[in-house]
Amino acid sequence: MNATMERISPSAGRIARWAREFESESVDRILEWAVAEFAPRLVMTSNFGVEGVVVLDHLRRIAPATPVLYVETGYQFAETDRLKEEVRARLGVNIIEVRAELSVEEQDRIYGERLHSRDSDLCCRLRKVEPLASALAPYDAWIAALRRDASPTREGIGVVEWNERRRMVKINPIAGWTRERVWDYIFSNRLPYNSLYDDGFTSIGCAPCTRRTSAGEHERSGRWDGEKKLECGIHL
Ligand code: SF4
Repeated sequence: MNATMERISPSAGRIARWAREFESESVDRILEWAVAEFAPRLVMTSNFGVEGVVVLDHLRRIAPATPVLYVETGYQFAETDRLKEEVRARLGVNIIEVRAELSVEEQDRIYGERLHSRDSDLCCRLRKVEPLASALAPYDAWIAALRRDASPTREGIGVVEWNERRRMVKINPIAGWTRERVWDYIFSNRLPYNSLYDDGFTSIGCAPCTRRTSAGEHERSGRWDGEKKLECGIHL
């Protein structure tokens, strides 16, 4: 993939038309269109949350060679690493691991240990946002498994939208799905999922910044506990 090739930048009108056209379409239909329109400059990102597994289960049937970027921060739960390998083996998707320039040890030497507990924005920028921005650069369109009702920060997402920060098209094929619908799909299709969901976690990120949630709490309230932060910056 040549990062220097000029990116396709559809007009705002075209993006709005796509968003309207695909709002009520099936995941298969949305992905078939995305592949026809953008491949091979089409990419997906996933950290193998349940939503990601749902989208990957569709993508593997339509375009299994589509690159799937997984940001390996060095702080993942062992359960997430195990799931990644299970997804790779069972779904046969093309997972590409993206890593920060600095190892955790190098980051500790330069910024001090446990940067995540002192400046989570900087830690997320170094370990997630910047490495992913470089990895996304060669592509025109990006598939993500975001849901509108997962977080107030995601309420306004479109099934197709323009990501100004990355200057690329973003495709959210399950934007309108509820959490219940996602879990129904996982169970009825006997798909693998992160065992931490059975242990009280409702959204899974890096181990030092993720806690279990209690009944009545919002599903992303266990991320960056004690901070106002709800997003690492990747999806902003
Ligand atoms: S989620 Fe926490 S450990 Fe992971 S990159 Fe962000 S601050 Fe660092």
